[in-house]
Parts: sequence; C-alpha cells; structure tokens
Amino acid sequence: MAKHSDSDDGWEARRNRIIGLGERSFRKSYYPQLRQNLDRLERFRTLLDRTSDFVVLLALPEGTIIDANMALAQLLGRPLDTLIGHPLASLGVADATAILDDLRREMSGPVDDGEVSSHSQIAEYRLEARSIWLELSYRVAVVDQRSYGVLMGRDITERKRSHELVTKLLAEKEALLDNALVGIAMLRRRRIVACNRRFEEIFGYPPGTMAGQSTRRLYASDDVFSSFGNQVYDALNDNRSFSATLMFARADGSTFWGEATGRVIDPAHPQDDSIWVISDVTERREAEEKARFLAFHDALTGLPNPLLIQDRLDQAKGFADRAAMKIALMVVDLARFKTINDSLGRGVGNRLLIEVARRLRNCVQDTDTVCRQGGDEFLILLPNLADAAACAIFLAKVMDNLLIPFKIDDRELVITVSIGIAVYPDDGADFESLLKKADMAMYRAKGAGRNAYHFFNAEMNGDAEEQLTLHFGLRRALDSGQFVLHFQPQIEIASGTLIGAEALIRWHHPEHGLILPGRFIPVAEENGMIVPLGEWVLRAACCQARRWQDETGLPGLVVAVNLSALQFKRGDIERSVTLALQESGLDPSQLELELTESILIQETEKVLATVMRLKHMGVKLSIDDFGTGYSSLSYLKRFKVDKLKIDQSFIRDLATDSESAAIVRAIIQMARSLGLRTIAEGVEDKPALELLRLYHCDEAQGYYFSRPVPADEFSGKYRTPIPVCAS
Ligand code: C2E
Ligand code: CA
Ligand code: CA
Repeated sequence: MAKHSDSDDGWEARRNRIIGLGERSFRKSYYPQLRQNLDRLERFRTLLDRTSDFVVLLALPEGTIIDANMALAQLLGRPLDTLIGHPLASLGVADATAILDDLRREMSGPVDDGEVSSHSQIAEYRLEARSIWLELSYRVAVVDQRSYGVLMGRDITERKRSHELVTKLLAEKEALLDNALVGIAMLRRRRIVACNRRFEEIFGYPPGTMAGQSTRRLYASDDVFSSFGNQVYDALNDNRSFSATLMFARADGSTFWGEATGRVIDPAHPQDDSIWVISDVTERREAEEKARFLAFHDALTGLPNPLLIQDRLDQAKGFADRAAMKIALMVVDLARFKTINDSLGRGVGNRLLIEVARRLRNCVQDTDTVCRQGGDEFLILLPNLADAAACAIFLAKVMDNLLIPFKIDDRELVITVSIGIAVYPDDGADFESLLKKADMAMYRAKGAGRNAYHFFNAEMNGDAEEQLTLHFGLRRALDSGQFVLHFQPQIEIASGTLIGAEALIRWHHPEHGLILPGRFIPVAEENGMIVPLGEWVLRAACCQARRWQDETGLPGLVVAVNLSALQFKRGDIERSVTLALQESGLDPSQLELELTESILIQETEKVLATVMRLKHMGVKLSIDDFGTGYSSLSYLKRFKVDKLKIDQSFIRDLATDSESAAIVRAIIQMARSLGLRTIAEGVEDKPALELLRLYHCDEAQGYYFSRPVPADEFSGKYRTPIPVCAS
C-alpha cells in the first residue's frame, strides 16, 4: 500500500500515537522499527506486483479502486494510475455491480473477524475487440474496523479455450462415431467395452444396452462363436488385423451377413482391447448374387441365358464322349407371339413369356437346361441321350404342354411352336455350329406348319417319329390287349429235358404287325410304361405256367420273366410278384426273375433288400446277359442268385473264337465254384451245344431247340419232349 490519503483514519491514529511519544524517543526507538516496517512493506509490494494473479483493493461501500497490483495493469494494458481512484465498473468487468452488491451485503452482515465468506465466479471481460475470460474471487477484508473489498482474479482465457476445444472435439468424435455407417466397438476378452450407436442398431439392441455384454450373443451359434473366436484371436495375438464376412445374429434371433474387421489397440498387449468395425453387407451380398444371377440369366423369365447353356454344353460333352451318349440342342420358336405382343401390348406379351418359361421348365429334368435366347425364342439342352430319337418323347411333352391355352387377364391365348433340333456329336462339336443347325432345322419345322419339330439330320426325323408312334401307342396297346407273350424253351443239357421257358413280350400292332421288344422296350423305359407293362408280363407268364401244369398234369415248368431297372426304381416289384403268384396260384419256385447287372449296381442297399425279400418268397433269380456288364463277383454272393445266363454274344462264336470259349469256360467254372447254375442263351447249333456240355454248362436256350413261340404252340413241345439231338 504505497499511497494513502491523509484522511485515512487508521494511519492518522497510528501516527498520532507515535508522535505522542515524543520526537526524541521516536527517533531513538521507533525509527529503526519504522524502517524495518517500510522494508517489509516494500518486499510485500514487490511480491504482490510479481504474482500472476491480479489483486484489486476497493474502498467500501463506494467501490472505488484504492489499490491494485501490476498484474492488473499488464492484463488491461493500462498504467495503474489510470485505474486507481476510479470505480470498479471502469475495469469493464461485466458483473461489477453484482460484485459490489455482494461485498456491501457482506460488509453490513455479521463480521466474524476476518472469517468472511469469499465469492468466486467466471466472468467475461471485453477488452477492445478481444474477449477474455477471468476467474474472479472476492471477499471483504476488515482492517482497523474499516472494510475493504479484495478482488482477485486471473486470466483463464487460454484454459477455457482449451477446455472448450476438448469438449468440442469430444462432441465431434461422438457425433462421428454415432453417425458412422459402420458399427464400431471396443472389445476386451470377448466382451463389449464400448460401442457406437450404429453397432447397436445393426444388432437390433436399444441404445446403451450392449456395453458390458459378452459377444456370444452376436453370433448365430455357440459353434460359430468359438470357431470364429479362435481364428480371430489367433490373428490378433499375432498382431495382425482380421477381416471376415460371416453370419451374425440380431437381438430378435434373425441373422444377417456382416463384414467384420478387427485390430488390437496396443500391439504390445494383443490380449487386451481390440477395435471392431462391423457393417451389414446383406444387401451388398444379395446385390452381388443378383448381379451374378443376371449375368447368366434372363431378367424377365429368370431362365439362364445362352452364356450358361453354352457352359453346360461344354461340361456335358466330356461325359457324353465317355459314355457314347448324345446331346440335343433345341431351338423353340413361338409362332404367334409377335401378333399377341403387337395387338395386346408388351405387358401381356411379357407375362406370356414368363408362363411359357414356367411350362418349359416343368418339362425338363434337373440335368437339362432351358434358356431364353431373347425375344420369343428359347433354347433347350438335353444331355445324356441314348440316341437322338430318345428326345422324341420330350418333344411330345413340350408340344402338349405349350398347346394348352394360356390364361392371361381372363383371356385365353393360344400359341404354336416350331422346334429345331441339332444333335451332338452328329451335327456339330461346338455350340455355334449346333445352334446354327438347330436354327436351320427350326425354319424347316416352321415351313412344315404349326406345332412341328424337325431334326437337322433328316434320318433322325424318321427315328423320332417312330419313337413317338410307339410312345403314343404303348398305353393304348396295353389297354386293348395288343401284347402277347412268346415262350422259348430252356433245356437241361445233361438229360435233354425241357425244364423251363423264358417269357418274351411281343406287340401285335394293328397296322405295323409284329413289333419286337428291342424296338419298344427302350421307349417304354423312357416314358415309364415299362412299369405297368412289366406287371402285365408277370401276371400273364405266371398264369400261363400254371395253366400248362393244370392241362398236362406234368410237374411244373419254371417260367423266366425279364425285369427292367425301372421296375425296381419306380414300381413296387415285390407287390407285383406277390399279386401275380396269388392270382395264378403258381408256386414261387416256378417263377424265375431275370435281372440285369444294371439293376444290381444301382442304389445297392435298397435293391439288395428288395431282392432278398423276393428270394425269401421262394422265387428264383438269374442274371441275364452275364459277361457283358460289370460282372462283379461280390454281388453274385450278396444277392444269392441261383443262375447265371451267359450272354449270347459269347455263345454265338463259341466254336470258332477261342477267346469266347475261354470266357464261357471261366464263367462256368466260377459259377460252379460259387454253387450257381449256368444257362447258355442263343445256342444255335450242335457244336456250340457240345462244347457247352463239355464245359459242364447246366442248361441251354436258343434257336437250335426252338425260337420263342406262342403259348399254344409251346404246349405241344411241352407234351412231347424235344429231342436234344434235333437238328
Ligand atoms: P433277352 O432277355 O436277352 O432275350 C433274349 C433274346 O434273344 C430274345 O429276343 C430272343 O428271341 C433272342 N434269342 C433267343 N435265342 C436266340 C438264338 O438262338 N439266336 C438269336 N439270334 N437270338 C436268340 P427278343 O425276344 O427280341 O427280346 C429282346 C430283348 O427284349 C430281351 O433280351 C429282353 O431284354 C427284352 N425283353 C423281352 N421281353 C421282355 C419283357 O417282358 N420285359 C422286359 N423288361 N424286357 C423284355
Ligand atoms: Ca432274358
Ligand atoms: Ca439275354
């Protein structure tokens, strides 16, 4: 306190007290004391001026500034004497009046000797263009019963700015995290430490509910949780980041495809926290799948486009080559489509195309391909055909299906089709040339009139036509009794006695005369008619065998019936056999079933079970055409067959070809060692028979004894045994 006014009561009183002691003694005893006090005052003044906080002393109650330190002068950039003697408000502190009010209130309140409460506040101070923030504290100080206001303060502008900056940055970070399009989470030991809003949204949890949870609930199953976890943590412990797309589970149990990337925060402690970014990529995956689909499919009908069919052809060619099979490429053209499209509008046209596509798809099997070639043209690829004509039945089915009127908007639309067919490998080796030829054939079909098909190779047309005649004729033939059985004797070589007969089917066609099974059995197998046809053969053969027995009173013959693979696959062969035996009253031991190797190698366990049950019924089993197929010894034992029927191709040149003779001998020897009987079929002459006798073949069948003959003709032979030496 360097300056005092003379009116200051405290100072005057003190001086008077000192002077009252007398000038001399004052000099003698108080001068050094005074000197000392003045030094202390000086030191205190320096200290005050050096502090960074500013201090202002106010006279109360007026609020005039009576003293202040240098810090204030520096802060305001004004010399101290421009401040002292002026009211507090002149400093520019916004709340000067309020401060003074506080101090005055304090001053008049109960004063507990210095124990006055202090006030503090943060105030904004405008200094010319600049605004600074001050942290102020003030209190009343009483000295010699006089009250002063002490106001202290410091510039906290910098501190406040950095605080604001941090708050702003945090808010920005939070906004950034919460508005991110990806879910972000911090994990520790497979628990969520913290996550953003999007993370909770992706997984379908309410805000703020995921922190602290185990990550188990994010996965579709325990297995995924543990296996994925192992992979991820192996990578993270290795300090690598990890990225994967996998199925995650939402709170409601539904699943989605998520792309997850994870990395550890502190590479020195890979087991600790890791940061995970997850995004829902379901839509993207679906879009990618759709794009992939569209690249190979027609958007309107969903059918593959020609790119895919080309690919399928290339794949099918390899198999066809190995198995000596054929592949058909068809061009299907809708004849009346353009008229419909033009007159009824594209909407109707499009729906018609969709419907045509649906019907075409219904006609084909899984291995076949239908595609839209653009416009009103479709392509069909049929692989695995035994021969070109084998697709005739398919063609008939397609045309039948497309002939049924289409119902669109209560309108009945009728279309006609023209189909052109090219066959691999006959007509071409690659897609381009096959397509060109199928197209040419399609134009020929168009020329032939509505609903026609045409093969590029003219010869195939005849074959296909015949197949179709047979296909359409089979059902009618069965219903109207056009089938008959012929019987071919089976002779025991050693004794020369007739012991059995093979039943062989014949078709007496009202126009085409006698049709041999070699022509119609493959068609019946193709269109499924072999099942009812086979049932008829079983019944007719059993009835005939029983009738012969009743007529002659002789011991029963064994009747052999041929079975097709399809009867095992689609029909109920056990039931057919049981019914045939019941209906005829024939003893099961008088029925022999001729199985082909192709039956025994398909779906072995199921076939084995069926064959075993037939065997238990007492029915005999033989293997037809033995030696031409797989001839695996294992199934002969497993299926417990009774007899091997040596294929006629070996018997035909038995006497002239030593290789055939060797095979026949080997088969007979093997059969004998397994306890099986053997029968040679296609025995046409005496030398063959004599060799068979030499080789100990048990039975023989062939033109040498008799051709297959109608039942009544057979009866005659049965009554009068055939001499074995007949020529
Ligand atoms: P497969 O079972 O091998 O029948 C033997 C074929 O050889 C019969 O022809 C028969 O007439 C003929 N054959 C018999 N002995 C001789 C001979 O000494 N020399 C010559 N060159 N041929 C002889 P078919 O009756 O034309 O039957 C052909 C094929 O049709 C049969 O071959 C069989 O696979 C099938 N088949 C016939 N009837 C039926 C039937 O009812 N059901 C089934 N699923 N297939 C049958
Ligand atoms: Ca046979
Ligand atoms: Ca045979």
